[in-house]
Amino acid sequence: MTQPRTVLVVGGGAAGNAVTILLRRAGIAVDLIEAREDWNATAGSGITLQGNALRVLRALGVWDQVQASGFGFGSVGITAPDGTVLHVQDDLRTGGDDLPATVGMQRSRLQRILIEAVRASGASVRLGTTAGTLDQDADGVSVRFSDGTEGRYDLVVAADGLGSATRAAIGITDKPEPTGMAIWRIAAPRPTGVTRTDLAYGGPAYIAGYCPTSETTLYAYVVEANRDRAGIPPESYAREMRRLTRHYGGFWPEITEHITDPALVNYTWFDRMLVEGSWHRGRVVLVGDAAHCCPPTLAQGAAMSLEDAWVLSQMLAGADAWDDVLFQAYHDRRIGRVRPVVEASVQIGQWQLDGVRDADVPGLMGRTMTLLRELP
Ligand SMILES: Cc1cc2nc3c(=O)[nH]c(=O)nc-3n(C[C@H](O)[C@H](O)[C@H](O)COP(=O)(O)OP(=O)(O)OC[C@H]3O[C@@H](n4cnc5c(N)ncnc54)[C@H](O)[C@@H]3O)c2cc1C
Repeated sequence: MTQPRTVLVVGGGAAGNAVTILLRRAGIAVDLIEAREDWNATAGSGITLQGNALRVLRALGVWDQVQASGFGFGSVGITAPDGTVLHVQDDLRTGGDDLPATVGMQRSRLQRILIEAVRASGASVRLGTTAGTLDQDADGVSVRFSDGTEGRYDLVVAADGLGSATRAAIGITDKPEPTGMAIWRIAAPRPTGVTRTDLAYGGPAYIAGYCPTSETTLYAYVVEANRDRAGIPPESYAREMRRLTRHYGGFWPEITEHITDPALVNYTWFDRMLVEGSWHRGRVVLVGDAAHCCPPTLAQGAAMSLEDAWVLSQMLAGADAWDDVLFQAYHDRRIGRVRPVVEASVQIGQWQLDGVRDADVPGLMGRTMTLLRELP
């Protein structure tokens, strides 16, 4: 190709932002469209970033900001429901020994950092915009946008998340399926003693946990069987979360004092999905949750999404031809890593749903995280 290459990125979450920053660095022209008018209105309270996610964030050039905004730690505590610490396990440094094992962050901070890097990259960004129609031929993709304008691209990267309209538009029929669990989450002030994630099993919830997200904040969550959302009015969210958390000791009474505003409590079902075979049709390629999603039992969803973006960008930047062979190679390189993460994440939740008491959770976690130390 002699003309500068052009890419449309659909969706400005972790995956879309990462792919935009990296493609711009390779000199590729990128238009990013994001459906929301307010790009930083990120749902959810906090996020646990494992080393392999941090490794990609460092490659994006934002590690210093992430480190300054988040809370790094290197172990996880397993507690009884009353808060008694039963075991402390060192986390594997999946991003290498020069990065922390884990950083907790407020989601809105991470999104802000990535937005600033996208803006600085020189990509063109249009908010409140979706792709109405995509028509491809052998040379490119013609796109008609929701505002009636049109564009022509060498490639479309679908980074529009779990419910990806782009995935459906190219005829991939996979859809997320509920795993049977749901999570209540909230951001709260960090009690000074909370310096790592602690997880309690065996109380009224399957899991009660928290993760420090800055010097002053944490996010806390309880996981239970999913219920019909119609039966849980949003104004009852704080009461519903407290119904579970009030049975826990340790730092939980202090955290529970802050579960008062139902508008600040997030309720989400866990889903799973893995698109099989290939993650592209013609010149439209999936990344991130659009291609796969898993319950956050290993806290690897965003990490896998960031890795997709990193790998795809490297492959695009290094290839003479953007064709089926390249896009299939991208899928083949990712699937051996994403599949075990999705399967292990689902399995850990399923063991709990089935009440399997002697399941080798640490063994499965250890094997999966060891795999992730390798470069993607
Ligand atoms: C309860 C829960 C907890 C989690 N905790 C963790 C964790 O601790 N650690 C971790 O690594 N992962 C975690 N994850 C997973 C993580 O949130 C996702 O894997 C990650 O956000 C996926 O990023 P993405 O960019 O692919 O998709 P998204 O973040 O969903 O971004 C998609 C973007 O596309 C936009 N969009 C949608 N449709 C269109 C359209 N038609 N046109 C244009 N734009 C569109 C959306 O507005 C959005 O901005 C968790 C997930 C859940 C549900």
